[in-house]
Amino acid sequence: MQKIGHFIGGKKVEGTSGRYSDVFNPATGEVQAQVALASQQEIDAAVANAADAQPAWAATNPQRRARVMMKFVDLLNRDMDKLAEALSREHGKTLPDAKGDVIRGLEVAEFCIGAPHLLKGEFTEGAGPGIDMYSMRQPLGVVAGITPFNFPAMIPMWKFCPAIACGNSFVLKPSERDPSVPIMLAELMIEAGLPAGVLNVVNGDKSAVDAILDHETIQAVGFVGSTPIAQYVYSRATAAGKRAQCFGGAKNHMIIMPDADLDQAADALIGAGYGAAGERCMAVSVAVPVGQSTADALIEKLAPKIESLKIGPYTAGDDVDFGPLVTKEALGRVRGLVDQGVKEGANLVVDGRNFSMQGYENGYFMGGCLFDNVTRDMEIYKTEIFGPVLSVVRAETYEEALDLPLSHEYGNGTAIFTRDGDTARDFASRINIGMVGINVPIPVPLAYHTFGGWKKSGFGDLNQHGPDGFKFYTRTKTVTARWPSGLKDGAEFVIPTMK
Ligand code: NAD
Repeated sequence: MQKIGHFIGGKKVEGTSGRYSDVFNPATGEVQAQVALASQQEIDAAVANAADAQPAWAATNPQRRARVMMKFVDLLNRDMDKLAEALSREHGKTLPDAKGDVIRGLEVAEFCIGAPHLLKGEFTEGAGPGIDMYSMRQPLGVVAGITPFNFPAMIPMWKFCPAIACGNSFVLKPSERDPSVPIMLAELMIEAGLPAGVLNVVNGDKSAVDAILDHETIQAVGFVGSTPIAQYVYSRATAAGKRAQCFGGAKNHMIIMPDADLDQAADALIGAGYGAAGERCMAVSVAVPVGQSTADALIEKLAPKIESLKIGPYTAGDDVDFGPLVTKEALGRVRGLVDQGVKEGANLVVDGRNFSMQGYENGYFMGGCLFDNVTRDMEIYKTEIFGPVLSVVRAETYEEALDLPLSHEYGNGTAIFTRDGDTARDFASRINIGMVGINVPIPVPLAYHTFGGWKKSGFGDLNQHGPDGFKFYTRTKTVTARWPSGLKDGAEFVIPTMK
């Protein structure tokens, strides 16, 4: 059985804790590897390597650091097929979608090539007589990232690229479900010229996470995953005096106004609701058509599209729409929630619960499900399902539709489909959600803007990537310097003010 260890001090190392977790092929249900679960000593070793490497890396000028990113981008392109295959084999998503996962991370690496510009400070000449004032952004030291299973390439890169470009060293704790790609990324960073020890990858579970959260040397923690763990990580990390940004779960609504192009809206819902088997934090899981006739027409368009979705393993070709869920537990949980929706009285228009993939009967496949007449009090409305299940909540008016995402505890993404600019502007202005799409179903901001949800979808005050990423991984130092032109006047006992 293949064993996956850690990446510490610039090379792969075996796990020494004696604890392992199975890594499945979700398409077949077979255990294809075992990933080591790090002990406290292994976290200590990764942090020690990171701490040793960081001062010299911080002293490397930003342009040279940016050149490592430039080379890393080249290597990601060179190894794209290999990375996508490894990703699909452990996650289950289709190959084109796995490439998208790598590319969305690569784009952040590209953005980080601008580090010399982004790290430029501020300068005021002549803030007082003979006084100049300047602010510089300096790295924090050793920082850490804890990432989820659903984007095993993109999210680790969203964390370590800006952190490293800013001059920090990094300890990454990726998801134990799909651990291969993060280690491949670390190897590519070394090949790109990153000094050993600046990027370390430790695999593990809760005990590795807790060791990171309590580690005195680690200055900041970036987390992405489910909301209860995001909240836990945020409180424990900040209680230990660390800087933390923790992104959680979602329930993304898409409002369809009566004037929307319904064919466009239905296609958008199919891609955004069922792509990656719904295992995306920006998946649309609630459709809110406004008006009964909009709802009836929408359901009529959606149902046959969902029934004819092509489900299969990533090896079945590029025209597969989505693959299996990540684990048997995930499959059981999603099926259970659909059962509950039926019990609670929602109308299951398309039932994908019993879908079985011929030749892959032990894989974690499930067909697309569509619920109509879902209401606010139902569990399927309140909970993040994280599976190929779309709920339709009917609204009579725009205000009633707007109130649904406005009142929901999650605030990651949302969208409105309309031809009316006034409605779209009103929605974008009033909604309390971090990322908004107007006739765009999955409004994931590009690398040079920032990504982050509101309410229970994000804890901490800065977003991921874009300028916020550079702010999160640096701290500001402001220097006030006086070079008197005349004789020194002597001591001053009054606080300096602008006279
Ligand atoms: P998860 O919360 O189970 O795991 C995330 C990370 O936390 C993993 O590294 C895992 O090992 C660790 N972890 C798990 N249980 C822990 C515990 N008890 N104590 C400490 N650490 C623990 O999430 P997941 O299932 O891997 O990912 C799916 C979730 O991530 C969904 O809720 C999805 O919405 C969310 N997500 C959010 C965003 C975002 O940007 N908001 C992006 C992607 C995914």
